[in-house]
Amino acid sequence: METKPTEPSLALTEIPPGYLNIMGYVDESEVNGPGCRAVIWVQGCPRECPGCFNPDSWSFEINQLISVDTLAKKILSKSRNTGVTFSGGEPFWQAAALASLARKLKAAGLNVMSFTGFTLKQLQSESAPPNSQELLEQLDILIDGPFVESLAINSPNSPVSSSNQRVNVFNPDLSDQITWASDQIEVHILKDGSRIVTGYQGGLTLT
Ligand code: SF4
Repeated sequence: METKPTEPSLALTEIPPGYLNIMGYVDESEVNGPGCRAVIWVQGCPRECPGCFNPDSWSFEINQLISVDTLAKKILSKSRNTGVTFSGGEPFWQAAALASLARKLKAAGLNVMSFTGFTLKQLQSESAPPNSQELLEQLDILIDGPFVESLAINSPNSPVSSSNQRVNVFNPDLSDQITWASDQIEVHILKDGSRIVTGYQGGLTLT
């Protein structure tokens, strides 16, 4: 199922400490995890899974640098955000900065969820990306495993996109809130007229 190497580009070293390189961001999404939440799509994933919902996120080149502090303030400024979801790209290649962001948001009462192309077991092993354990410790929910096209689930009732993926609920308070479906779509129209389409298999389109 996983045939691609998992080493990121050296471009990761160009991200200043305390910053994230992101592909996109949206507030008040209801199709990327429990309730109403902010979603951050990080930039960079080396797997190149066939059928990936976000191929524009594969490159590790710098796309949009944003500080953890700025992002925390933006997310907390929207009172309808009751949680945050990290998607990608591969969140665990930017684990230290995301863990730092998660700590700030959890201190303000938000819950934190992440997608990953790694399995939980891989993230708990010695070959995991740096600081993976630090990020794992902050998560309420982890959806693990890459998208595998041959195992795709296209169901209005499934929170995962392919049957190899698992919903790991670390916070029992959220165990009855696994209610989103991976093939729902949401369109956000921003003040400048641009649109963000998200939700289908965790995907993101900017127009
Ligand atoms: S499906 Fe996920 S793990 Fe696979 S290439 Fe796309 S972002 Fe990476």
